[in-house]
Amino acid sequence: MSITGHYINGIAKQPLSHVGTTQTPKVLVIHYSVTDTVAAAVTALNAANLSYHILIEKDGTAYQTRRFTEHAAHPGLSNWKAQSDVTLGSSLQRGSVGICLMNKGYAYGGSASAPGKLIYNPDDASMQRWEVYPAKLIASCNKIAEDIIKTYPIEHVVGHHDVAIMGKFDPGPLFDFTPLHDMLASPSPLGFKTKVKSPGSPLTVRRLPDAGSASVTTLNHGATVHIRSIAYGPKSACIHPSPGTRKRYLTRWASVDVNGSDTHAGFVNMKYLRQRRSLRRWLPIFEGASMAKMNISNAGLKELAGHEGIVQTRYQDSVKVWTLGIGHTKAAGPPDPKTFTGKLTLDEVLDLFKKDLKSYVADVNSVLTVTVSATEFDALVSFHFNTGGIKKAALVKSLNAGDKKKAAAQFMNWKSPPSIVDRRKKEQKLFADGVYSNGGKATVYKADSAGKVDWSSGKTVTL
Ligand SMILES: [Zn+2]
Repeated sequence: MSITGHYINGIAKQPLSHVGTTQTPKVLVIHYSVTDTVAAAVTALNAANLSYHILIEKDGTAYQTRRFTEHAAHPGLSNWKAQSDVTLGSSLQRGSVGICLMNKGYAYGGSASAPGKLIYNPDDASMQRWEVYPAKLIASCNKIAEDIIKTYPIEHVVGHHDVAIMGKFDPGPLFDFTPLHDMLASPSPLGFKTKVKSPGSPLTVRRLPDAGSASVTTLNHGATVHIRSIAYGPKSACIHPSPGTRKRYLTRWASVDVNGSDTHAGFVNMKYLRQRRSLRRWLPIFEGASMAKMNISNAGLKELAGHEGIVQTRYQDSVKVWTLGIGHTKAAGPPDPKTFTGKLTLDEVLDLFKKDLKSYVADVNSVLTVTVSATEFDALVSFHFNTGGIKKAALVKSLNAGDKKKAAAQFMNWKSPPSIVDRRKKEQKLFADGVYSNGGKATVYKADSAGKVDWSSGKTVTL
């Protein structure tokens, strides 16, 4: 075969209702149809105003729906490394050719199926049997792909699952890309690169896309990560704010390689990867879009004030740093306690405290991969404000793994100095039972004109 006038010679034409615009093909995307026949695929495509360039029956009979220089509506939302007119974050529709193979994927009910080498959900039994691609179909696909690669400046041959951030595992684990990759002069790795952003501790690469899964290896803060694809999982793990109803859902877990091998090594939580602005539009995982950012509640703010104590005028702390209100120093922004000679009202103390807590609140948001209640969140902020340890605390790992009981117990891993144990128990109770301990009460201490506080005698106030 060969290509004349942007059509493969010798195969039938099968127009579709979707009409595209002009393109230069640079990427070849392979799909499966989830239908048994081209006739059924055509009906489904026309109903949805979608299209591929090539449709191939199970016996190898192929149809072309349009010129390769007319774009087709096949990849939908897709992500890809930045390159000329096929840019990261934009749909691959412009600049790609879609070949669709008649195959039911894992929805197949017949007998010609085989276990899939499925890296994404290796323990999900429902995704382990896939319809086999017959030899005639594969031969036809490879021959057509060869013609396309010879004729156009094709830089990559990928599966739909390699580039689609929301969709099916497509064309599935039984499709062998090796012959197609071998046709390319210089195949380049899938996906994109970014860096590990986990300053507290190394990032764990896990066997499964799940925080409770076994560690494969770790990556240090600042290490380059090659993200190959995004993992799919159950609805509960979906990062999309309105997931709808699908068979599988996009998660915040990414398949990565290590040591530049370009083979799947394990999964990392993308929350701990450096955000790239160009990714945010299509990869909300990087901003944790599944969970609204939480803030400390008013009750939580008062509870925390109760733990800390209040001084309404400036004072010098134990290491002679000028301080105001609840631990406010110049480092946190204005006012500068050293030059502040007035007296804050209790409301002003709380307002300033809430501002100063922003970075702690952000830290807590940044480590959570599960949704938590308001009281759980308040307890975590109180814990972090005191310990600064939210990023390395085992309780966070348990919480993210779905074990709240264990997380509650692990508050008590942090009981130094001994005087902090009472507070830690209160945080634990707030986390586990949702009960505030201080009744909105806090202690106000007085400082003298030299900034010295008498911490031995305070006055209890209701905030
Ligand atoms: Zn597809």
